[in-house]
Amino acid sequence: MTVSTTPATGHPKPLSWDELRFCPGCGAPYPLPLTTPRVCPACTRVLHPDPRVVVCAVLWVDGGIVLLRRVFKDRGWMLPGGHVDQGEAVEAALQREITEETGLSATITDLVGVFSTPGEPVVLLAYTATAQGIPQAGSETQTIRVFAPHDIPWDHLAYPATALALDQALKRFAATTIATAAAPSTFSCGKDVP
Ligand SMILES: [Zn+2]
Repeated sequence: MTVSTTPATGHPKPLSWDELRFCPGCGAPYPLPLTTPRVCPACTRVLHPDPRVVVCAVLWVDGGIVLLRRVFKDRGWMLPGGHVDQGEAVEAALQREITEETGLSATITDLVGVFSTPGEPVVLLAYTATAQGIPQAGSETQTIRVFAPHDIPWDHLAYPATALALDQALKRFAATTIATAAAPSTFSCGKDVP
C-alpha cells in the first residue's frame, strides 16, 4: 500500500466523501450544502465519489485455507488482501497483498465474485488462489493459520463479505471435487459399466 503507517495506530482512515470540503485542484471551499458530484465554483473541476476497490483471496495452501488476524483494529479472521492502488492491476495488487501478509507467492486461479453493499464505499473482489509453503505473518498480521474447510471459524470472521466469499468458494470447490471424483472411473478402463 502507498498509505503510510504509524506503529501506534495502524493505517490512517481514508478521507470519506462527506469530509471532502475543499477542491483538491485549487483549494477553494465547496459551497454548502455539499453536492454529489462536487463541482468547484472556482476552477469548475468535477469530482465523483469513486468506490474503493479491495481485493482478497481464498488462498489454498496444502488443502486448507489461509486466514489471518490483523494487529490493528482486529475484528476477526480475514482473507488475505487489501486495497488496490490507482493504476495498479487488480491481480498484481492481490499478489502483492498476499506476499506482504503471508510471505507466500500465489497463483491466482479464479474469480469468486464481486461484493458490494448500498451506502458502503468498498467494492470487494474475491478470488481463489493457490500457494505452496508455510504462511508467515507479515508486520501487520498478529496471527495466521491454515484452516481445513470443515474447520473454518464461521462465527469469528471479520466481515460479512468474508463469509460470503468463503462460502461461495467452498461450494464451488465441493462441486468441482464431486464432479472430478465421479467422472473418471466409469470410462477409464474402456469397459462398459454393468
Ligand atoms: Zn477548484
